[in-house]
Amino acid sequence: MTALPESGRVWHLVARPHGLPRPEDVALREVPVTEPGEGRILVRNLHFSVDPYMRGRMNDAKSYVPPYQLDRPMDGAAVGEVIASGSADFAVGDHVTHGLGWREYAEFPAGRAVRVDASLAPLSAYLGVLGGTGLTAYAGLLEIGSLKEGDTVFVSGAAGAVGSQAGQLARIKGAARVIGSAGSDEKVKLLVEEYGFDAAFNYRNGPVRDQLKAAAPDGVDLYFDNVGGEHLEAAISSLNVFGRVVLCGAISQYNSTEPTPGPRNLALAIGRRLRLQGMIVTDHYGLLPEFVKDVAGWLASGELKYHETVVEGIENAFDAFLGVLRGDNTGKMIVTLNN
Ligand code: NDP
Repeated sequence: MTALPESGRVWHLVARPHGLPRPEDVALREVPVTEPGEGRILVRNLHFSVDPYMRGRMNDAKSYVPPYQLDRPMDGAAVGEVIASGSADFAVGDHVTHGLGWREYAEFPAGRAVRVDASLAPLSAYLGVLGGTGLTAYAGLLEIGSLKEGDTVFVSGAAGAVGSQAGQLARIKGAARVIGSAGSDEKVKLLVEEYGFDAAFNYRNGPVRDQLKAAAPDGVDLYFDNVGGEHLEAAISSLNVFGRVVLCGAISQYNSTEPTPGPRNLALAIGRRLRLQGMIVTDHYGLLPEFVKDVAGWLASGELKYHETVVEGIENAFDAFLGVLRGDNTGKMIVTLNN
């Protein structure tokens, strides 16, 4: 057996950010690596995920996931290789996903690991297209949004991990028209030319309301909201009778330092009999077998495409996280480790 490393690096939250997180709010620290005890495994992380929801976990606020604790490691989705095992269920060399990202080495109970197959897809895909963001798109569109054939679907944050998959899935499942918004002209081009959106616009180029009305002259049946704010208000004004909104994320508000106003036109929901429903992906793990089968099939047939933005090195992970909030990423933002 090769010797285990003595120590590894892990990101700690050291101060609660006010507004946009700053480098002083976090610290990369060296900690000892421990050998796994009975029923536990030690994993060398190969990739981990930095996600918008982590901004909420930096606040000391009650939510659907506990806040990060000060001077403690941050966590999140990761994929890696088992390098020592005290469990009969995992052998050295197995690849697993788990919840202890933001670090080079993770030691934890084997029951919290899920084995993944590196021959089916690149390992980073289990953090995105075949992982949490993919399942969010799938469950959001099909279960929460009740997508129907012939729907006109609008997706915001459409060049990101969840949005790009939601838009393509809508097309695959028979939407009549799929419209996306994103924050640059290059992203807009990608939506139409590579992902097969019928129309797309850059929300920085003019009011969302006007651009959406031009892209969806006959209105929208289903809005997949990753952004909130102006996008949500604009979508409500374009929704048809019995329209649906999947309230998946509100990234335009995550760094707000004041309470943000709700959509001013919410009363339209009454006459148009709209349904606006929030979602959290963890409620939908029951869909995983069906999701993996469908998505693996669409990837193999080429019907579903995806991009990743890869940042190398654990020392660059915090900047990668800020990059997600800034829009540096196209598709899933992945931190790849070279430890
Ligand atoms: P993305 O890959 O979409 O990255 C975030 C993107 O948000 C950026 O690339 C940027 O793209 C866009 N963005 C940033 N600020 C703004 C803004 N002010 N207005 C409009 N767009 C902005 O991230 P994910 O796919 O991981 O997540 C997308 C959304 O889904 C997030 O809101 C997230 O919180 C939510 N989510 C919810 C889950 C749930 O269970 N409910 C699970 C997973 C994600 P651009 O260049 O286009 O501005």
